[in-house]
Amino acid sequence: MTRAKLSNLPTNADTAAADGRGSSVVPRLDVRNLSKVFKSQGKSLVALKDIDLQVFPREFVTLVGPSGCGKSTLLSVIAGLEAPTSGEVRVDGEVVLGPGRDRGLIFQSYTLYPWLSVAENIAFGLNLRDIPKSEKKQRVGYYLEQIGLTKFANAYPSQLSGGMKQRVAIARALVNEPEILLMDEPFGALDAQTKEQMQLFILKLWEDTHTTILSITHDIEEAVFLGERTYVMGVNPGRIRSHLRVPFAKDGDLDIKLTPEFIEVKRQLLHELREGQN
Ligand code: ADP
Ligand code: MG
Repeated sequence: MTRAKLSNLPTNADTAAADGRGSSVVPRLDVRNLSKVFKSQGKSLVALKDIDLQVFPREFVTLVGPSGCGKSTLLSVIAGLEAPTSGEVRVDGEVVLGPGRDRGLIFQSYTLYPWLSVAENIAFGLNLRDIPKSEKKQRVGYYLEQIGLTKFANAYPSQLSGGMKQRVAIARALVNEPEILLMDEPFGALDAQTKEQMQLFILKLWEDTHTTILSITHDIEEAVFLGERTYVMGVNPGRIRSHLRVPFAKDGDLDIKLTPEFIEVKRQLLHELREGQN
């Protein structure tokens, strides 16, 4: 286990090259030189400054930062819900100009429609599209199975636990087969045990469906456990301080969190975060 400082760890381009993807691979998500300034009552707040971030096809990338550093703002801009003040976001090389089905979104709060059943919630996005009924049924069935809720197809959100609701939200995003799944503190509202179950669940889902994921969190342990690479943000202004390749297999072994190597990476990130708060 290297004790190198984060800044000495491989860069994005290095890691892409080392993985044989080479620098010629078009990032699935490419955030370049992105800044976001909020103006209100004559005052300006630089929420994001010069953000550079890439996620390559099939990668699981996490971004960790303290509260208020601009994580949700960054996700909103990537989602096309907010325009950047400068810089740009590209998905598979195409500049993002607004919301699109190529990006699936998961938020901390549960966003299911309470009047629709689990299966109807998952099918919601498909119903807005011209997709044959049989294919809809097959896709919804597949994701119900992936999230382990086939038996709950006809249940309503009020009958589900928090973890189950969030699994439905994830299925609802994935059923549209987005190019990338964007998650903002997805497990932040769950208790510790459910959160760990959900971490295992999302790793397995990522393996099985080959989805590309960017997950944002203030939880260092989660960032290290889930991410193949992790970006660290600082605050005032919100910026990327560093990033590292996480040197562990993503094989869903929770006990890895107790190993000295894992704790060492956590320690490095914790120090980065603390420095970033000054
Ligand atoms: P995080 O998700 O990391 O906690 P946010 O992206 O929510 O951080 O917020 C970053 C900063 O931008 C905060 O200071 C917040 O008050 C400010 N901010 C977020 N959205 C707006 C907005 N629509 N108008 C003005 N300021 C905003
Ligand atoms: Mg936030």
